[in-house]
Amino acid sequence: MGLQELVAHAFGPLGALAQCVEEFSPRSGQTAMSQAVAATMEEGGVLVVEAGTGVGKTFAYLVPALLSRERVLLSTATKTLQDQLFGRDIPRLVKALGIPVRTALLKGRSSYLCMHRMMGARESELTHNVTTQRDLSRVQTWSHSTRTGDIAELTQLDERSPVIPLITSTRENCLGARCPQIQSCHVNQARREAMAADVVVINHHLFFADLNIRESGVAELLPTVRSVVFDEAHQLNEIGVQFLSRQLSTQQLDNFARDLAQQGHKMALAHSGWPEMLAELVRSAAALRALCGGGQPAERISWFEEAPASIAGHEWHNAMSDIHTVLQQTDVVLRSMGELSAELQNLHERSSRLMAELDIFSHAVQPGAVRWLESGATQVRLVQSPLDIAQAMRARAIEPQADGGARKSWIFTSATLGHDATMAHFVASCGLEGAQVLQVQSPFDYLAQAVLFIPEKLPKPGDAGHSAAVAHLAGEGAAALGGRTLVLTTTLRAMREIAAALRQRFDTFSFIDVLLQGESPKRELTERFIRGVVPGKNGCILVGSVSFWEGIDVPGDALQLVVVDKLPFSPPGDPVVEARARQLELNGSSPFHHYHVPQAAIALKQGAGRLIRRETDRGILVVCDVRLTQMGYGRRILAALPAMRRITTHEQFTECLAALTRPSTTDH
Ligand code: SF4
Repeated sequence: MGLQELVAHAFGPLGALAQCVEEFSPRSGQTAMSQAVAATMEEGGVLVVEAGTGVGKTFAYLVPALLSRERVLLSTATKTLQDQLFGRDIPRLVKALGIPVRTALLKGRSSYLCMHRMMGARESELTHNVTTQRDLSRVQTWSHSTRTGDIAELTQLDERSPVIPLITSTRENCLGARCPQIQSCHVNQARREAMAADVVVINHHLFFADLNIRESGVAELLPTVRSVVFDEAHQLNEIGVQFLSRQLSTQQLDNFARDLAQQGHKMALAHSGWPEMLAELVRSAAALRALCGGGQPAERISWFEEAPASIAGHEWHNAMSDIHTVLQQTDVVLRSMGELSAELQNLHERSSRLMAELDIFSHAVQPGAVRWLESGATQVRLVQSPLDIAQAMRARAIEPQADGGARKSWIFTSATLGHDATMAHFVASCGLEGAQVLQVQSPFDYLAQAVLFIPEKLPKPGDAGHSAAVAHLAGEGAAALGGRTLVLTTTLRAMREIAAALRQRFDTFSFIDVLLQGESPKRELTERFIRGVVPGKNGCILVGSVSFWEGIDVPGDALQLVVVDKLPFSPPGDPVVEARARQLELNGSSPFHHYHVPQAAIALKQGAGRLIRRETDRGILVVCDVRLTQMGYGRRILAALPAMRRITTHEQFTECLAALTRPSTTDH
């Protein structure tokens, strides 16, 4: 039996899923997607699938992947999603399908305990602190029992604990083959297990980090797999651009100086000119920070010529040349001492890499790239990144793997990949021209389940009083529903203003709790939001900005109202956005129509997607931006949303809220 037949049977009414997965029932969209995935896995090629909310896309690609009996690489957007796939979805399906499959989870090196660094961590000044000492003791106790060394297992350890950088490695400080702990190294163990597995679960960050520096094991893995599946593929371009970038920060220079000092102390190098060399390195890094306006509130400065926009060319040249001189001196000294210890050899490699990065930022920006300077309170960062991942995907991933042998299959999927059926924007940014594109509609009946309210009588976005009016409307809805409200804003400023107004309305004695992005980790806020409607508990309003527009899954009555403050256009001052717009202009296209509008349509579709998560969900989406109906481009953005029942007046809004509070009512 071919793969497509096997998959059709598994999803059929008498198949393994119907028999073993409790909530499973055959759905035409899911079956269609699984068949398309199976066909691509059999024949090779590139498939792009947008699968609306509720299609069941995870099973639609996992079942063919598992039944293919080929090596498959699965990549998703976050470590949490990786853990869900590896710890929940794959084991369920392996059991249901009854097939022996070796699976492995591979994360970046910062997720694993480094035995060598843990042993040296007691020497760090940071561990003089009582909390850090306590965390370190926990890690040491756990290190005896862990098999994987994945620090996500240590749930009592706060993800922001200062002990984490002390017990994990970076590419810079890992001793590699020279490490005395190499036999018990968890990073190496995870990579070995990945090489031996049939299905390997990675994340997009790791995929691109590896494509860039070929360090984390994916580069060796890629030639050996037959299929690669990217879930949450809408995040690929932004994550990829970030990881394909070249960077140099004053923090890197400071860390290098700190590690040099430690080694100098350990090897008693006080009389060898070591302290003077160190002082010079620290001074030149501080001079760069001062020149770039470090210590001021964070800002991004565009950089089109030889120097960043705010800095004179000769001053920039002098600062770069100062750092180059001291790094070169360090490099010469370390080269002569490298054989004395593995640590000194590692420092020598670091000085060479720092010089290579410095060289990039000492010359003018290359075509097809964007460069900027990020100046913050404690450090400055020089960044150069490609405008998109298209060239890297073609040249470093898809084309090299197409040489000889059976054709590989590449599958890209997400609930939101575009604002039209061609998904041209996504396809072009990822370099997937010629791919087969499939759009699988959500099985939800949005016309019956959801209402779209675009209030006519609200101040225009940008007018004073707009945020206050949004807060008033959200407060009114939340009061009627007993919380159950998510407010999505386009800026942090609007988020704070709206949250402050809502907190004034629902004070500490109120039955409604106002949760704000940033006050606790995202997962904790989401859990509190869901718990808020447990009988006897207070209801919640959750106010969030960009990171809350996606990745929030609140099925059922816990969420009934989503309020969006404005159309989510990309921030105009962002250097990458500016550079992409310039590029389009140079090619004779309109940046507004070919970049900003599609981006906003996709982002709004994602935000709106938070509302209806199940066939039985009902709710109201409020978009507080009249441009959606009054402007031509607004109507293009509106067309990308699922068709919902539209209301425009406040009276209709009140009626819909009342209908949602009547459990037996199906028509609102
Ligand atoms: S090889 Fe690198 S990551 Fe592994 S234990 Fe040694 S220093 Fe740590």
